[in-house]
Amino acid sequence: MKLSNLEEKLLKEKFSDNVAYNKAIERLENGEPFAYVIGEWYFYDETYRVSPDCLIPRPETEHLVEWLIKNLPQNGAFLDLCTGSGCIAISTLAHRKDLTALAVDISEKALEIAKKNAVLNGVSDRISFIQADVLNADFLGDRKFDVIVSNPPYIQSDVIDTLSVQVKNEPRIALDGGSDGLDFYRVIFGKYTNNVKTNGAVICEIGYDQGPVLNDLFGCTIMKDYSGNDRIALLNVK
Ligand code: GLN
Repeated sequence: MKLSNLEEKLLKEKFSDNVAYNKAIERLENGEPFAYVIGEWYFYDETYRVSPDCLIPRPETEHLVEWLIKNLPQNGAFLDLCTGSGCIAISTLAHRKDLTALAVDISEKALEIAKKNAVLNGVSDRISFIQADVLNADFLGDRKFDVIVSNPPYIQSDVIDTLSVQVKNEPRIALDGGSDGLDFYRVIFGKYTNNVKTNGAVICEIGYDQGPVLNDLFGCTIMKDYSGNDRIALLNVK
């Protein structure tokens, strides 16, 4: 098993006795993602608990956090759909003490992790959680937010099988965006705009090749990540 110096250091910190260390190596050899084996991962300035019940936070998702920290109004409230580990909402709250958030996920187990992460990062008094199916927008009634943010599942169902074994070890429901990958965007840039205040916004992470279609369908503004790939779709709500 070829580990980077950093991976080796993190593993040794976590598993000081040999038996546990060797067991961890075995899990890695079986294709388990590194973050699941050490049980935590780093995102923005925070540390997150992770498990196979949630997606592993990725650096490109930090662009959403940067945008929220910069653009949410003073004392604003935002909604995080498909919160998973909670990383987007929690890192944003950690850097803006005036904000509050509601975080939604269909997975009870993911929500348990997100709740732990809120406590670990000192924001649990400003975030609430709802278990609900995001594809069914009705659970919110007419509640309105300054911004809705989401990094929803956006991979086409038939592409998932072609991904690396590490990614396939992540929860399929966190990856699968339906046959064209757009199921979640259709509701989030559609029905959910009723849950945004005047002059608010809906902002989502997107796949590198989904910019043109999201611009066509909903008039989203598309922004790039550090690698120069389309990564964010923004819709201003009038
Ligand atoms: N919002 C979470 C993240 O960014 C989970 C995303 C998902 O489950 N698709 O990691």
